[in-house]
Amino acid sequence: MTPHGHPGADLWLDYAAGQLDRPTCSLLEGHLAFCEACRKQARAATAPGGAALAEAPEAPVPSRLLDGILARLKPPTPPQVGREVLPLPRALWPLLPALDGTAWRQALTRGFRFLEAAPGLYLIHMRRGCPFPAHGHRGLERCLILSGGLRDGHRVLEAGDFDETAPEEVHSPVALPDEDCWLLASLEGGIRFQGWRGVLQRLAGA
Ligand SMILES: [Zn+2]
Repeated sequence: MTPHGHPGADLWLDYAAGQLDRPTCSLLEGHLAFCEACRKQARAATAPGGAALAEAPEAPVPSRLLDGILARLKPPTPPQVGREVLPLPRALWPLLPALDGTAWRQALTRGFRFLEAAPGLYLIHMRRGCPFPAHGHRGLERCLILSGGLRDGHRVLEAGDFDETAPEEVHSPVALPDEDCWLLASLEGGIRFQGWRGVLQRLAGA
């Protein structure tokens, strides 16, 4: 399935120029695993002439050399938390070393857990049908849906979709009812809960 939500052309140019922070790079690289159109765009942005090179016929690799390379490759394994295998695209497997179950953190809501995959980058698991309470942000929030999907206001985001939420926007995403939703999100400066959770958050000084 082709994603509907894509990083904008400006982001790919910033990516190519090395001007994005690591969390945003990870979201873009994860999106590439889902999106042929953006793979072309990223290739064109990062390597002038790269698109033409990619379409050239590949030179044959001597079979003995190839056998040697294959023999040295360790079988890749997807990242796990405890015994739970995470649904990350292969390009992002190096992001997460093996973690134990204590890496998960809970938010002030049921059916929602998250862990910090890297500084500023969060892996989020929402149980099917569960909402995340209304909140705003102290900076831009970006996300990449890894599997399942969620409804966010009038938007429905599904696997591979990249999305941005502006700091002033208050939103309350809800996981779609038929499947758990896994996503990666980057946050500039954390979130601000609304309602009683916001009161608790302010009392806690968070
Ligand atoms: Zn795309």
